Amino acid sequence: MVNREEYVSEEDWQRFLEFSRDLETPCIVVNLQTIRNNFTRLKGFFPYADIYYAVKANPETEIVSMLADMGSNFDIASRPELDMVLSLGIAPERISYGNTIKKARDIACFYERGVRMFATDSKEDLKNIAQNAPGSRIYVRILLESSTSADWPLSRKFGCHPDMAYDLLIMARDTGLTPYGISFHVGSQQRDIGVWDDAIAKTKYLFSSLEEDEGIRLSMINMGGGFPASYTQPTNDLGEYAAEIKRYLIDDFGDDLPKIILEPGRSLVGNSGILASEVVLISRKNNTALNRWVYLDTGKFNGLIETMDESIKYPIVTSKDAPGAREAEVIIAGPTCDSMDILYENYKYRLPVDLRIGDRLYFLSTGAYTGSYASVSFNGFTPIKTYIMKEKPAL
Ligand SMILES: *Cc1c(COP(=O)(O)O)cnc(C)c1O
Repeated sequence: MVNREEYVSEEDWQRFLEFSRDLETPCIVVNLQTIRNNFTRLKGFFPYADIYYAVKANPETEIVSMLADMGSNFDIASRPELDMVLSLGIAPERISYGNTIKKARDIACFYERGVRMFATDSKEDLKNIAQNAPGSRIYVRILLESSTSADWPLSRKFGCHPDMAYDLLIMARDTGLTPYGISFHVGSQQRDIGVWDDAIAKTKYLFSSLEEDEGIRLSMINMGGGFPASYTQPTNDLGEYAAEIKRYLIDDFGDDLPKIILEPGRSLVGNSGILASEVVLISRKNNTALNRWVYLDTGKFNGLIETMDESIKYPIVTSKDAPGAREAEVIIAGPTCDSMDILYENYKYRLPVDLRIGDRLYFLSTGAYTGSYASVSFNGFTPIKTYIMKEKPAL
């Protein structure tokens, strides 16, 4: 049985139960207050950094609006995301186009709407930016090989070798753009803090060599995301990350730090969400099989895509949890007719033996990379709904 209080306070749990009691499952309930607390905490640990919320983690407008009011900026990856954020009255100066994979006409559209900061990691993309967003600030994303310690790696697909980053920043200057900085992403749910050390050292090397050899003075480091949410595998506290990263920065850059940008997604919204599902069927594959199969009304295609390769192991609570309740190992699967729709088979969750059809299963820490990842209507199932639990009015 999961120790629920490690993930959600008793008070928030009771609020959630009351809020979700009559809701159709599957659904996700997001607690806005948790996100506010996370943002405040992050700012406290990184007072010197500008925060750019990675909107893809959870694009619900209430979340974006609240973070905007709290002073966040936004990392945006597509035109629809841009439209949504601008429609909330957020100024284009607070937006970074962080996707290195984009069409020329998307760049033009961002530029037209006032966005002036762009990520890149290739010559062709940089050419497109020079033509369609003249004069804009450019940061180049570097590739990190060391992302195997991340539970949801973002390596390989994005970034370029530091030598190419060097060339791209020269090309940026030579095509009338403003060489601005370096970015990296150490991989999402990164549990090895040392990875930032290596990334910051590579960044320092680029800052120094571009200034010495080319007279190009970079002024910004975008350290991406990667800070963890709390799942079943232990992680260091955010305070440990902050202390270590500060030390790496000062070792390499001294007290006169460049502008530092963070793009948190998972760590801001992950633990704000609880996904409620219902047990559809419990069965065994033969009369003597030891493991029960527990089939739910949600699965890989309806909010839980990050169970792919069993990468993210969510804490699971059931409506039958009780101190001393007997438990046994189960295989947990979704409701669709795709055999890939198995959530956990190698890793065996232990659930109460008196779990029955119709009982509820709650996946904790499901505020990030869940709702917006759901398929449109595979097997006719409607996409999982997200409900926002507003902040408690101040007393
Ligand atoms: C997804 C993404 C993030 C957020 O990463 P988390 O690990 O969820 O914090 C930040 N920056 C970029 C460019 C991303 O693609």
